[in-house]
Amino acid sequence: MRGSVRAAGAFAGRVRRAMPRGGLGRSGGLVVLAYHRIDSGGGGLAVSPGEFRAHLEWLEESGLRIVDLGAEPIPPRGMPPQVALTFDDGYRSVAEVAWPELSARNWPASLFVVAGMLDGELRFPWDRSAHDGRAALLDRRALTDLMAEGMHVGSHTMTHRYLPTLSPREVAAELRTSRQALEDLLGRSVTRFSYPMGGWTGAIRGQVRAAGYRIAVTSDRGRNLPGADSLRLRRQPTEPDPEVFALTVEGGFDFLRPVDRSRQLAQRLRRASRSSA
Ligand SMILES: [Zn+2]
Repeated sequence: MRGSVRAAGAFAGRVRRAMPRGGLGRSGGLVVLAYHRIDSGGGGLAVSPGEFRAHLEWLEESGLRIVDLGAEPIPPRGMPPQVALTFDDGYRSVAEVAWPELSARNWPASLFVVAGMLDGELRFPWDRSAHDGRAALLDRRALTDLMAEGMHVGSHTMTHRYLPTLSPREVAAELRTSRQALEDLLGRSVTRFSYPMGGWTGAIRGQVRAAGYRIAVTSDRGRNLPGADSLRLRRQPTEPDPEVFALTVEGGFDFLRPVDRSRQLAQRLRRASRSSA
C-alpha cells in the first residue's frame, strides 16, 4: 500500500513540479497532520528527522498558518487553509527531535499519549525490539516537562486497544480513566482525544463527548471544512517523502478514502473475529 502511494507520489510529484505552487490556494479548511515517531528507523510509523525538517520547511514556504487544534474557527472557502500538527502514541523522539523544531518556530502541536504506558519501560507490541531506543516512550516526568514547554497533551486511551471491538463499559473506562490519570499528572484539564488506530463509531463518538472531551481526531483522510464535527476531525497521514507529504497536505490522495474505509472495515472484522475466538 505504502509502495503504491509512493509510486503514485513520484508520478504526481512530476506533475506537481510542472504546476504553480500553492495547490491549496484559498480553498479554506483545516488540515490536521498525523505523526507518530520522528526517527530514522523506517517502517510504517517513522518520519526521519531530516524528512520532518523538510516537511516543516515546505509548510513555512507554503505560507500556511499553523494553528492549535480547536483554537480558531475553521476558515471557509475563499480563505487560505490552516494546518494543525498532531503526534500519536507518545514516543520520546517527539520531545527530543520534533518539539525543538516546532518550538523554535513557535508552532503549536498536540500529543496524544497512552496513559497506561508512561512508566518509561513499557513498549508497544508492534515495536518488536524493546531495546531499540527508537521505540522508547515518554515517561511521566518527560511528559510533564514537555507540557510545561507548551505541548498540548491529549488522551490516546489507557491501553491503545481498538475501541470498536470493546464493550461500551470498557470503552467508557478507557476514556474516563485515561483522562483522569492525565489530569492528575499534568494538573490541568484534558479535553483532546485521539482514537487508537482511527477506530470510531457513532456510539463511541457519543461516549467521547460524555467523557468530557471537546476535540477528537480520527485517521479518516481529508480536510476539515467549517461545520466539521470537532469530535471526529479528519487527519492526513504523513508520508515521509517530502514530495509525497506536500501532495498529501494538498489533498492529492483524498481519492484513496474508499480504500481507507474498506481497509478499516477489514481491520474491524479481523479484530472482531480474533476477540471472539
Ligand atoms: Zn496510536
